[in-house]
Amino acid sequence: MKVTNGVVVSLQYTLTDGSGEVLESSVGGEPLAYLHGEGEIVPGLEKTLEGQEIGFKTKVTVPAAEAYGERDEDAVIEAPKDELPEGLEVGEEVFGEDPDGEPISFTVLKLTENGAILDMNHPFAGKDLTFDVEIMGLRPATEEEIEHGHAHDGGCEDEFEDEQAED
Ligand code: ZN
Repeated sequence: MKVTNGVVVSLQYTLTDGSGEVLESSVGGEPLAYLHGEGEIVPGLEKTLEGQEIGFKTKVTVPAAEAYGERDEDAVIEAPKDELPEGLEVGEEVFGEDPDGEPISFTVLKLTENGAILDMNHPFAGKDLTFDVEIMGLRPATEEEIEHGHAHDGGCEDEFEDEQAED
């Protein structure tokens, strides 16, 4: 079997930035499983893995544009206190929901009198990223995975919503 659309790929990976600092790694834990062709991983890495087989190992540097995109300085905003969680600290990464329930994440750059300066860019935006990867497993995706557009190895992130919808 080769990596192509509709295949679930299990990967061991280590992600480093331009200075060699490790940003993320699956080594020593469960491999990352993703459904190929659905944009679950950054485009530059997905392209590199296309057509490869189990045991394929590589180290590839993906430019920011093919990873988490360039930084957008308009995404640095000041938010008023009453819209922010209590007790924020500078440098903290916050994952939450906006008022419409859409997932958002931001980094606290500075606390101000009225609130805080937030960076809504992805923490890895603007960075060229080096991926050290090895393909550990390949299998055809289930119908349900194809329908959902993601792998279910770590459970289904939509399950909660699905359950609510069925009630
Ligand atoms: Zn799912």
